[in-house]
Amino acid sequence: MALAQSILRETLALCAWLVLLSVIFIPLERLWALRKQNVRRKSLALDVAYYFLNSTVLTLFLALPLSVVAWLLAQVMPASAQAIFTGLPVPARFAVALVVGEIGGYWGHRWLHEIPALWRFHAVHHSAEEIDFMVNCRAHPLDLMFTRICGYVPLYALGLLQPLATAPDPAMMGFVVTGRIWSFLIHANLRARFGWFEHLLVTPAFHHWHHSRHDHVDHNYATVLPWIDRLFGTHHLPKAWPAEYGTDTKVPETLTGQLAFPFRRD
Ligand SMILES: [Zn+2]
Ligand SMILES: [Zn+2]
Repeated sequence: MALAQSILRETLALCAWLVLLSVIFIPLERLWALRKQNVRRKSLALDVAYYFLNSTVLTLFLALPLSVVAWLLAQVMPASAQAIFTGLPVPARFAVALVVGEIGGYWGHRWLHEIPALWRFHAVHHSAEEIDFMVNCRAHPLDLMFTRICGYVPLYALGLLQPLATAPDPAMMGFVVTGRIWSFLIHANLRARFGWFEHLLVTPAFHHWHHSRHDHVDHNYATVLPWIDRLFGTHHLPKAWPAEYGTDTKVPETLTGQLAFPFRRD
């Protein structure tokens, strides 16, 4: 009974978030559309299915591997070193978490592109040929688990994230919420450009280039801080927009086909 109530509560919360995201992004994408495309575009149902599937899978299956990673890191990291970071004020903890979490996420994302076996998981995300905010949801659950762990490893190492903490840390909540909302924003079908601001924070133009079909898919791995790509030599942000989105990897179009795709031998 308690499990059923908890599942119902989670599902309602997910529905409420989806409504909120739609209320924010659909009018914006209508007003400042980069490309003319129907709100009910091809594969929208697939992305909605991923939204519910991935939220559930991450809630159920990510806690255990993260706890193991955190425990292992706690064995090797001196508590005195962690105390330097955990003793910082909230805004400083948030800033440090954003930078180190982004560096971890950057490398996780880059390995998904550069290691062929991992690319088969990540190709699902790059199979979208029309981009809008809901494309953020299209990702193989194991791809998401991998990038989430890569992003969290440095946070556990510095003691900023505590898997068994009883009270939520406002700095870490801010870090997590910023990352989640930003991921939807950078996929949005928005033609707006932001001048110098684009050097400071990732915008749709930056991430749309990452979804380009051929030319710059191996650039722009960051989610929030584009200068991390500059640091590692993968930054690409011209004034133009990509001509075409998608991938030449033959990813199936159905949910079950995509979930099985990385494990198929072809
Ligand atoms: Zn990618
Ligand atoms: Zn993307």
